[in-house]
Amino acid sequence: MDVRVRFPPSPTGNLHVGSVRTALFNFLFVRKYKGKLILRIEDTDKKREVKEAYQAIYDSLKWLGLSWDEGPILQSDRLDIYKEYEKMLLDKGLVYEQDGATYLKTVKSGQTKWIDLIGKKEISFNNETIDDFVIYKSDGFPVYHFANVVDDHLMEVTHVIRGEDIMSSTPKQLMLYSAFGWEVPEFAHIPVILATDRSKLSKRHGAVGILDFKKDGYIKEALLNYLALLGWTPPSGQEILSLEEMIEEFDLSDINTSSAIFDIRKLEWMNGEYIRNMQDEELEEKLDEFLVDHPAKGKIKPIIPLVKTRIKKLSDFIPLTNFFFTKPEYDMQIFNRLEIGELNEALTKTLETLQNLQQPFEAAEFEQSFKKLSEDLKLSNTQMFQLIRVAISGQLVTPPLFESIRVLGEDETVKRVKEALHSL
Ligand code: GLU
Repeated sequence: MDVRVRFPPSPTGNLHVGSVRTALFNFLFVRKYKGKLILRIEDTDKKREVKEAYQAIYDSLKWLGLSWDEGPILQSDRLDIYKEYEKMLLDKGLVYEQDGATYLKTVKSGQTKWIDLIGKKEISFNNETIDDFVIYKSDGFPVYHFANVVDDHLMEVTHVIRGEDIMSSTPKQLMLYSAFGWEVPEFAHIPVILATDRSKLSKRHGAVGILDFKKDGYIKEALLNYLALLGWTPPSGQEILSLEEMIEEFDLSDINTSSAIFDIRKLEWMNGEYIRNMQDEELEEKLDEFLVDHPAKGKIKPIIPLVKTRIKKLSDFIPLTNFFFTKPEYDMQIFNRLEIGELNEALTKTLETLQNLQQPFEAAEFEQSFKKLSEDLKLSNTQMFQLIRVAISGQLVTPPLFESIRVLGEDETVKRVKEALHSL
């Protein structure tokens, strides 16, 4: 059997964590079984349509590398087809019109059931709970259940892999399959994603649109990895997996039957792991792509080893390294935090010591000279080196001091200490 799956988002806004995870599971499944993935835009609900959403869907999937094989197919281009199939049911006497809308007459006895691929369990609904329902609205558009079923049939979809949140539509859709006399695809309803407090996931939990994660400095490999683990346990038990490894290991039978928890801190941790384990060249490339209109562009290379283990997101690079590219603004409060009594004297001596050092500065000599100076000034080593740090950066936290100075350059370092002194 040739596997055919579809990802059919409605263009109602940004693609969110849940939708992207659904797309990812479809992608992993279809690549594993070498089938075809159809991208279908379900845009028949004009009231909820957001024009920018179409492009956001394409951009999100492209950024993540979730490629599709057919489409995008827009349902709004297929209205004639749905009309034709509506007529087919009218001719069969299985639907009726009322107030301009068309309703399917549902069977009121017995049960509608299927074996869901998630957990391999039977799901059943009592038919008496399912009233006649609209398949075509009076505005001339088919409703979701109807267009979705017609398309899945015509597009020869073999597996419907989607969120459990829309499982209540499935019995209605099965009734449509049976009204048409069509073969039913396999269904896999993936348990929902909740927030850490087990409430419905929302912006408040950091679960924004996927492209916002990009803007925020997450890298796609980490995001895909994290999303895959929301509800899927790879048989190898490995936590860090590439897309290829996920494809290799993926199976619907390993999807958990309980809901998954989205924890932004875990994602952040994983993103940091990916950054840490990246080749310097790759991180440089990612940062260069990430930094738009930033003075660091093209000058990142020497800083990479200083920041690699200190950033969790690409965006963390900016506050940590800003001082390399812009003159620090000195703030007396920050100097005061060092609790150095004779600040003026300490900075003057710091400047002298720097000017007396051999250039290029050498780590051991640098350290020795300032340890000596701290003794002379009756400062702790921490106070001494923090003073230099604040003088060159205006900040209390930077990458390691000596390495930062090497990147900044001897002349610039001396210049900044002078400026710090003048700022007092
Ligand atoms: N357009 C539906 C949605 O975005 C598709 C659901 C399905 O996969 O059948 O919720």
